[in-house]
Parts: sequence; C-alpha cells; structure tokens
Amino acid sequence: MISSIIDEHTIERLRSFINGVNRIVITCHKSPDGDALGSTLALCHILRRLGKDAVVVTPDMPPKSLEFFPGLRDLVVFTKHELRARHVLSEAQLLFCLDFNSMKRIDRLAELVEPLKVRRVLIDHHLDPDDTFDIMISHPEASSTCELVFRVIMQMGLLRMMDRLTASCLYVGLLTDTGGFAYSCDNPEFYEILASVLRRRIDRIGLYNKAMNTFSADSLRLQGYAISEKMQLFPEQGAALITLSKEELERFNYNRGDTETLVNKPLAIPEIYWSVFLREDADKIKVSCRSQGDFSVSDICAKYFNGGGHFNAAGGDFVGTLDEAVAAFHQVLADLFPDQDNNNDEQPTQEQE
Ligand code: 5GP
Ligand code: MN
Repeated sequence: MISSIIDEHTIERLRSFINGVNRIVITCHKSPDGDALGSTLALCHILRRLGKDAVVVTPDMPPKSLEFFPGLRDLVVFTKHELRARHVLSEAQLLFCLDFNSMKRIDRLAELVEPLKVRRVLIDHHLDPDDTFDIMISHPEASSTCELVFRVIMQMGLLRMMDRLTASCLYVGLLTDTGGFAYSCDNPEFYEILASVLRRRIDRIGLYNKAMNTFSADSLRLQGYAISEKMQLFPEQGAALITLSKEELERFNYNRGDTETLVNKPLAIPEIYWSVFLREDADKIKVSCRSQGDFSVSDICAKYFNGGGHFNAAGGDFVGTLDEAVAAFHQVLADLFPDQDNNNDEQPTQEQE
C-alpha cells in the first residue's frame, strides 16, 4: 500500500486551485536535471489531460544529455525563448514550483516570477524551503520530486490519467535522483511507486541507457582525465577533491552535463566518504558535493559555498577564483578536522618528464 503522506486538506486546496484556473505554468531549478524535467513534464501532461493550458518554463537549457526526454519539444526555455516565457508567465493563473526550495535557484527567471500575483504551489524534496508559497508540498525524506508528483497524482485520484508518456517522465526522475536506485530509496513504497510506473509499459531499458549510460567520447575522456590526473585524496579526513579549470574543460570540448556524475566516483574508494568537485564556470566556481552515511554536505555547502541541497548531495556557487575555492575546501578540512594534518594529502599524479 502506498500511504497518503500529503495531508488531505492540502490535496483539497490543490484540487480547488487547479479547478479554478485554466492557464498554468510549471517551473523548476536552473540547469534542470532528470528529476526537474521529469517532474515538470509529468505534471504538465496530467494537467493537459485534465483540459488545462499547462506549460513548462525552465530558467535555462537542459543539458544535451537529457535531450532524449519525452515531450521536451514543448519546453519554454527562458534564456532561449524569453519573449514567449514572459508572455506565458504574464498570462499564468497558477504557478507550480518543482524541485527547488528557493527563488535563488531559478536565476533571472525569479525577476519575472516573483512579482506575479498568482497562487504558488511548491512540490519539492530539498531541505529548508522558503515559506513564500500558498501550498507547500515539501518532503525532504522523498527520493525525488517525481516521487512527490506521483503521490500528488495518486492522492488526487488521477492515477488513471498516468499514461505511458507521463510514466516515462516520472521513471527518469526516480532513476536519476537515486543514482540508479542506489541511494535515497530505502522506503519500500518507492518500489511500489516504481511498479506502478512500470505497469505503463515504459521503455525501461532504453530510458535507463539514455539517462544513466550515455556519454560523448569527449565526456568520457574528460572524466578519465579528471580521475587520473586531478583527483586528490585526503584519506585521514575521508575526503576527495577534483577540480577542473576552464582551460581543462575547453581542452575536452566541455558541454553542460559532461561531468554530471563525476563527483560520485571517488566515493567508490572504501575510505572516502565525502567528495567535492569544483568546476570553473564563466563567472563563478560551481561546487558539487556528495557524501555517504552520517555526514552532511548540505551544511558544508550552505556555510562555505553559498548553496545547500540534500544531506548527502548538495552544491553551491563560489564567487572567486578556482584557487580561492580550493582554499575554501582546505578551510572546511581545517574546521572539521582540526586535529589532522590537512596538508598531508595525496597529490594528483603529475605527468612524468
Ligand atoms: P549537483 O551537484 O548535481 O549540481 O547538485 C546536487 C544537489 O545540490 C541539487 O539537487 C541541489 O539540491 C543542490 N544544489 C546544487 N547547486 C546548488 C546551488 O547553487 N544552490 C543550492 N541551494 N543548492 C544547490
Ligand atoms: Mn530532485
């Protein structure tokens, strides 16, 4: 049995919000990932099947690696279709905010969204959400926003509307936000939800291969280089650090999404339980952190890297140079492990002369 974790009063209000409007905009965080796209598109399909004029507006382009996504052609991308985005937002009567917890996560799109005089519904699984929503379906214990969208559909009595396309979208989010059913999926109900999704006869293997196991040759070479040449280990502190500069990224013809799962790789080493990846972007350093077990990286990202996220998977933006971001990482080591010699790290392999 899949339990009703969203309280009935919330579901009732959501139903009345939806019944009372026609034009609905659904948005998600910048650099949308499998869960952001899966949850927004799935909800959009359901609302359209209910006869609503629903549109997904993303802050920026999804990475090339997610172009396979079912239903992606309909997406309104703010950085690409700004006029259209402005138009649909100005006409919106209801706004859904999916897979993010704060307006900071939607970049410049926030300038358009914040002044809107419409009701806002949050559906999200990140820690510490803003409290600026009329309905908050915030469950940090959930595997993914796709799980929560499934639960919303189920509790609204709309499961019969979940067709193959909707189920395919949900499957990709359930899959990618759990690292291929590896973490954040201890709740047995997760597998009941998965079973319900699979009953829609989705192309499970095809979607798995596209979402989890498709990389360009450049991306594979970049990941190989990063692990072989750039991974620093700090076994005493259970830590790993990988950095990639703009110059290194350009050398491998970097496209967004090419380093998506790189930060997880050092966690394969038994003594490493937290991992940091620093990537030099045009105007900032993008920070990605992952951990295993009882070690919070969301706290680290909030305190040192202007970000946050989940207990075991978090990120942030560091304003400064790559060297300064590395110095911030060393500061984390010094603060968290004051008794260790934090300079005694294993240096990345240097090229032999
Ligand atoms: P990733 O490392 O894949 O970019 O992000 C992992 C998780 O960290 C995301 O699901 C999100 O919760 C969080 N995250 C990533 N970047 C940021 C950021 O800049 N700010 C905040 N608050 N959270 C972030
Ligand atoms: Mn998510």
